[in-house]
Amino acid sequence: MLKSPPMQTLTVQDEIRNAIRDVPDFPKPGIVFKDIMPVLSDKILFRKAIHVLSDPFMNRKVDVVVGIDARGFILGGAVAYKLGCGFVPVRKKGKLPYKCIEQSYTLEYGANTVALHEDAIRPGSQVLIVDDLLATGGTSAAAAQLVERLGGRIIEITFLVELSFLHGRKNLSNYKLSSTVVY
Ligand code: AMP
Repeated sequence: MLKSPPMQTLTVQDEIRNAIRDVPDFPKPGIVFKDIMPVLSDKILFRKAIHVLSDPFMNRKVDVVVGIDARGFILGGAVAYKLGCGFVPVRKKGKLPYKCIEQSYTLEYGANTVALHEDAIRPGSQVLIVDDLLATGGTSAAAAQLVERLGGRIIEITFLVELSFLHGRKNLSNYKLSSTVVY
């Protein structure tokens, strides 16, 4: 009798990896953009992604989730809801309405500045930073500095995707990091 082949069970990480779409030469020639929109638009996969990002923190004290402009808002907002804590955005300079502190950082070409409302983080609060993707680490390092300047304690920085070949962890060696899918 012929045996049926063993069932292949995909992990959540595999499912997310399979759904992420590579967009070559976006936003500039030579960059392969990891498009997570197919993960977000799938009702099952979006929920699974939020679970996998939140689960390690369900029994930890997290006072606030900080999400980074812009896809970090989508993931971070849902993670904050799941954890039952507040959400704070780190935005590109000029977008937040109230008084801000700012942090500049260098990119491969040029520089960028991110901002945080000056009253957004209570000193001593336990902060989880969420972003969609770790590339060189400059953006999340700047976000982490903003949080620390207000006295927040960063318990971890978590990403849905990490591009390990860009060695972003080197920029974030002071922090505990985690990522769901690593390329
Ligand atoms: P970095 O500061 O180099 O770690 O860049 C991280 C930020 O840029 C994240 O907020 C990502 O959304 C975005 N990013 C950088 N590179 C990519 C890429 N290849 N695909 C998608 N997003 C990217």
